[in-house]
Amino acid sequence: MASDGVWAVLVAAGRGERLGDDRPKAFARLGELPMLAEPLRRLDESDWVEGIVVVAPAGWEEPSILVAEQIGASKVSACVAGGETRAESVRAGLVEVPEEAAVVLVHDAARPLVPGEVVERLLSALGEGYDGAVPAVRLADTIKRAPGGVVAETLDRAELVAVQTPQAFVAGVLRAAFDNASNSLLLATDCSSLVEAAGGRVKVVEGDARLQKVTTPADLERVEALLNG
Ligand code: C5P
Repeated sequence: MASDGVWAVLVAAGRGERLGDDRPKAFARLGELPMLAEPLRRLDESDWVEGIVVVAPAGWEEPSILVAEQIGASKVSACVAGGETRAESVRAGLVEVPEEAAVVLVHDAARPLVPGEVVERLLSALGEGYDGAVPAVRLADTIKRAPGGVVAETLDRAELVAVQTPQAFVAGVLRAAFDNASNSLLLATDCSSLVEAAGGRVKVVEGDARLQKVTTPADLERVEALLNG
């Protein structure tokens, strides 16, 4: 397999306790298959993606490989166990990305619907010379900082965006950001945070409502409706 192009790291190692299921979130049913099948199939079908590393919950590597086989995914080169935090899971996946990879696309399995247009927008931002690119949507609500439940500050909504995945990075920049990350950064909820902290320039591109993240059973129903709609 050629390895100088775009590689995807699909992180699926979250426990998903808020889904109230007895299995990890990536194995909650979405239609006929475990949720993991949907983002995996979409990344596998993307002409941009050369190889995929799946990061599974510890002990769920075999079932993850079975899902890949079941959908006929041909680009999965490795499936590894994740860590305690999302960043540790990404780090475990990055180890399996070939040295020659130019770009790494990190995606949450909890966002099953990956529109191809978003991947194209991300990659063209990297083509403009950015270190990274993230998809984002505008916020409908007014956002306040409220430590301890008391309002401390109202933020300027015009400047705020809600950031999704997939997030795309120049591979060397992402690896360096992980190599130099402090312990507190390993609690970050996205990869861009690490690249930003390392001084990287990250472009915001238009996100997509279909990239909705599954956290609760109601989210799963919404994604299922989008899938069937
Ligand atoms: O928990 P949350 O929904 O924010 O997780 C976002 C994504 O990161 C999910 O796809 C989840 O499977 C993944 N994750 C992971 N390892 C962790 C925590 C989350 O791979 N320790």
